[in-house]
Amino acid sequence: TPLTVINGYLEMLQDAEVPAHVHRAHEQMLAQSQRMTLLVNDLIELSRLESASMERPGEWFNIREICQQTVSQLQNYREGAVPRLVDGDAVEVEGYPDEMRTVLVNLVTNALKYGGDSEVVVRLKEIPRGLKVSVTDKGPGIPPEHLGRITERFYRVDDSRDSTTGGSGLGLAIVKHALEHVDTELNIESTPGAGSTFSFILPPYRVRS
Ligand code: ADP
Repeated sequence: TPLTVINGYLEMLQDAEVPAHVHRAHEQMLAQSQRMTLLVNDLIELSRLESASMERPGEWFNIREICQQTVSQLQNYREGAVPRLVDGDAVEVEGYPDEMRTVLVNLVTNALKYGGDSEVVVRLKEIPRGLKVSVTDKGPGIPPEHLGRITERFYRVDDSRDSTTGGSGLGLAIVKHALEHVDTELNIESTPGAGSTFSFILPPYRVRS
């Protein structure tokens, strides 16, 4: 995108010798253009998901592997909080592996970003209604009045706090759409002061052990 060019030049100029006030301005430009890149990428991802055909053939894949990779990839995302996977048997599910990866990366990243220094646990559990996938943190939780709205695009619980985390407010909207493609929906349970669990249940016809 055009932003790639802007980012490239801003990075190239990072080592240039300039007066302090120009240096500060340059740092701001670089930070904001990187943030804009994340926002544009999320918007592209969301519109791709919205226009994806529901008739695409899915494929069988090992969801445990994707959970494990997500957890490993995010080990160093935040000092003091480490994600781990608690799983049952290896389970195959039918759907779209890239979209499942996006779902898990978004949920685990959120748990690490907003869950304070608590442990983050990803669980896979076979239950009579299908395969339950959950991501739990023991962070500050989400006040009940926000719960119904946080999957809306651009909705963020506390802008002043969250501006430091640099999110786009699109992550959960992306998750919601991706889950619709595999016939399920996002459940959110949260207790202020005790933490949050984001989960979904993949229906039995999309699961095999
Ligand atoms: P973003 O992280 O880019 O702001 P999301 O759509 O992923 O956007 O999340 C929307 C909002 O929901 C976040 O800004 C945050 O306020 C809240 N949120 C999401 N996950 C959690 C969590 N695990 N604990 C507390 N709040 C959360």
